[in-house]
Amino acid sequence: MTDGFQFTEREEQVSTVSDITPTYELEGATRSYGDGSALVVALNALDLTIKRGEFVAIFGPSGSGKTTLLQLLGALDRPSGGSIHFERQPLEQLGDSALAGLRLRAMGFVFQQFNLIPTLTAAENVQAALAPLAMSRTKRRDTAAEHLEAVGLAPRTGHLPTQLSGGEQQRVAIARALVIRPAIILADEPTGNLDRAAGRAVMDLIQDVNDRTQVTVLLVTHDPVFAACAQRVLRLVDGRLHQNMELPDERASSDVDLGLAG
Ligand code: ADP
Ligand code: MG
Repeated sequence: MTDGFQFTEREEQVSTVSDITPTYELEGATRSYGDGSALVVALNALDLTIKRGEFVAIFGPSGSGKTTLLQLLGALDRPSGGSIHFERQPLEQLGDSALAGLRLRAMGFVFQQFNLIPTLTAAENVQAALAPLAMSRTKRRDTAAEHLEAVGLAPRTGHLPTQLSGGEQQRVAIARALVIRPAIILADEPTGNLDRAAGRAVMDLIQDVNDRTQVTVLLVTHDPVFAACAQRVLRLVDGRLHQNMELPDERASSDVDLGLAG
């Protein structure tokens, strides 16, 4: 799938970020909604470090706080208590435009619903992620084409989302996430709208990207088979970190009981 063009490492934009700088450090990270009798503590005092290049699954039942955690890590939201450092920067202290800048330059998002712009072709959807960056039109077009080729969609670049299968749309979304050479990919149930085979292909692609590059991957899933593709599984229950488990290297083997069922 990735013959020819290979995913390449992100060029460092911040000189103080070294190989040993953790991607994330969370201390007592808490997110609550409402107050009084309507108080919901969606995320309760998480302490956590995520190393650069790690592939981490966030696993747990519906309502356990997975999306809340991903939104905090993706600088889409701020904690109501505690701290979250991304590459040593405290996210809770950054203003809206600084957070937006981080998202545009360092973070690639992949969602369950693909979230492609319906009136743009596959190529234009990927190019759109490059629009905020200083880059010539030709370079944008070539870079987008390379990334679509790398996800196996070279023959589909001129298609609209409605002319693509769900699996193909998700691969466009992955190319769009990767085209900015992010430090991190944040994927919220990326296989949730796909059948088993298309879901498997998307997971293989995400795993391949993680193996070949330094990109850190955070994958939200409630599927134990896909959680087992990660190097580490964070299991959430009622907003608390219930389990923080390293998986053996022979991962993605569905006949190995990782204790993730249920
Ligand atoms: P998951 O992704 O694991 O299904 P979420 O992070 O979406 O869980 O939600 C965790 C808890 O926080 C749930 O009880 C949910 O109802 C609540 N919650 C999430 N977002 C909001 C919000 N914007 N306002 C109020 N409650 C919310
Ligand atoms: Mg969710």
